[in-house]
Amino acid sequence: MPIVEDLNQEIAKLHADAFLTIEEHKKKGYYFWLQAVKEILPNGHVWVEGRGDMIMLGSYSYLGLNQHPRINQAAKEAVDKYGTGTHGSRLLTGTLDIHERLEKKIAEFKGTESAILFSTGYVANVATIVSLLGKEDVVICDKMNHASILDGCVYSGTRFVRYHHNDMRSLENRLREFSSAGRRLVVVDAVFSMEGDIANLPEIASLCKKYNASLMVDEAHSLGVLGARGRGIEEYFGLPPDTIEIKMGTLSKTIPSSGGYIAGSAVLCTYLKHAARGFVYSGAPSAMAVAAALAGFEVMEQEPERISRLWENAEYFKNLLRQEGFDLGNTQTPIIPIMCGETESAANLAKYAQDRGLFIHAIYYPTVPKGKARLRASVLACHTKEDLAYCAQVLAQGAKEYGILK
Ligand code: PMP
Repeated sequence: MPIVEDLNQEIAKLHADAFLTIEEHKKKGYYFWLQAVKEILPNGHVWVEGRGDMIMLGSYSYLGLNQHPRINQAAKEAVDKYGTGTHGSRLLTGTLDIHERLEKKIAEFKGTESAILFSTGYVANVATIVSLLGKEDVVICDKMNHASILDGCVYSGTRFVRYHHNDMRSLENRLREFSSAGRRLVVVDAVFSMEGDIANLPEIASLCKKYNASLMVDEAHSLGVLGARGRGIEEYFGLPPDTIEIKMGTLSKTIPSSGGYIAGSAVLCTYLKHAARGFVYSGAPSAMAVAAALAGFEVMEQEPERISRLWENAEYFKNLLRQEGFDLGNTQTPIIPIMCGETESAANLAKYAQDRGLFIHAIYYPTVPKGKARLRASVLACHTKEDLAYCAQVLAQGAKEYGILK
């Protein structure tokens, strides 16, 4: 088994270029990946194997919908009605009426004609980009786009170029440069998951119009977060719901389930349902996940106060951190990068925080540029002010101990 044997050497090398090997992470007490959570509580706490009760400061359950009784109930009822498996792809035997109901709900929520469900957001991005573009086309991406967009661009075999992060001059240069290419697709995150800033949608959309390019936006971190009703980036900027042609989102963040979607025209969704390999050749999402997602959208509509609580909590926590002197980069959302500079500083601060009951991770090169290592916090609607104040205090103490703050 030479391939498998070789993997031991590969594992020993992993992350070594960036910082430390996996073994070295463990020896230094910096290894916080793959920690098993034994119980998720509705108040933003988790019970962690070997550590006990912790405040979850890294989850994307922005509106705190996980463990919502109505959503849990919907999932349980779906299990009773459909069982736990679907045993076939959507195209052949796997489609349930509840898949269609969820697609209808997503289309209604996003103001589009239609929608298509995928098993994950990752698959939605890869499958869509791959099936829409060919060799003569070009895809133009923000440099900070999510890895699943990048992978879709690479797997599509199309020409793939990037523009400087949220830099409209750089985007226009790219659009001009490729104005005679076949089809042109601009793909961008609505909220950037490492920085917490928001794409300049009004400018991006008008440049796409000017250069006759299509626009695809990944709303993984904006669904339920941006806009007074959580409808996303178009609502946030007061733009009409036909501003974005291809609207991608995930059901694994604000919506407490799993799965991904594309919302758009009926033609787009019909095409993807018959041509996107990640849809055609993959088993249908389970009824339980679909029912939970459907109930998640309904709860979001019925409890809009969660959105204001999320933003209130985010502002509260950011103010506390700024008062302590932290650099929070360009965050405009509940995703908060807590800048530490060097990788070791971020690793030390993550360890300090984890040892004091904060479930939070350090992010460093190659995920973010060298010298820009950070802890990434995400605030939830269900966090209490007391918990957030405790987190800010722990982070400030740790940052002083390791020289991140004076
Ligand atoms: N896009 C973005 C911006 C994401 O952050 C993620 C998840 N980390 C995805 C897509 C993939 O979504 P999923 O978790 O549903 O695969």
